[in-house]
Amino acid sequence: LEPKEEFKHKTLAMDVMRPRCSDPPLSVLTQSGMSVDQVEALISDTSYSGFPVVVSQETQRLVGFVLRRDLVISIENARRMQEGIVGASQVLFTEHTSAQPYGGPPPVCLRGIIDLSPLAITDHTPMDITVDIFRKLGLRQCLVTQNGVFFLLYLCRRLLGIITKKDILKHMAQMTNRDPESILFN
Ligand code: ADP
Repeated sequence: LEPKEEFKHKTLAMDVMRPRCSDPPLSVLTQSGMSVDQVEALISDTSYSGFPVVVSQETQRLVGFVLRRDLVISIENARRMQEGIVGASQVLFTEHTSAQPYGGPPPVCLRGIIDLSPLAITDHTPMDITVDIFRKLGLRQCLVTQNGVFFLLYLCRRLLGIITKKDILKHMAQMTNRDPESILFN
């Protein structure tokens, strides 16, 4: 490990996570109900390195995380090698998939590319602990879920946002009035 600096400010994950109030909402994939066209539009309209997968837009209940590059490759492969895949084909991240939902074109099943236990912290996690977790686990990003007993009781994680290593570097730089490039992180 390179020498590292301690982070002593009293900020919380909610102060660093994206999206900010004024930003567009988090770009997520739903575990079912999206078509190949919709997923490809999400890929071309954004440049994020990954997308959280949720049960539905309404619940924002976290299922996992998919890397952009895995999504791109898998859809390309499915279009090339799997018969009958068209823009209207459903993209499914669910465990059980019926072969042809509602008699439509065959679906693309992408359960295999989800990280089903992505590291998630709550919005109330202090940033000094978050920085420590990023360093110790060598994370590139981590998801932020809602704090609260309700969500613990129901064992579901309601997704609120995402923090990347770059977000942390920018935050550390802001707090100490420095250039993010000058911060020794790992
Ligand atoms: P990096 O921060 O290394 O450039 P990304 O390109 O993935 O990594 O993210 C760019 C910015 O967008 C970061 O501020 C991050 O918090 C935010 N972000 C990452 N993924 C998403 C997403 N799926 N939806 C909305 N914002 C995201």
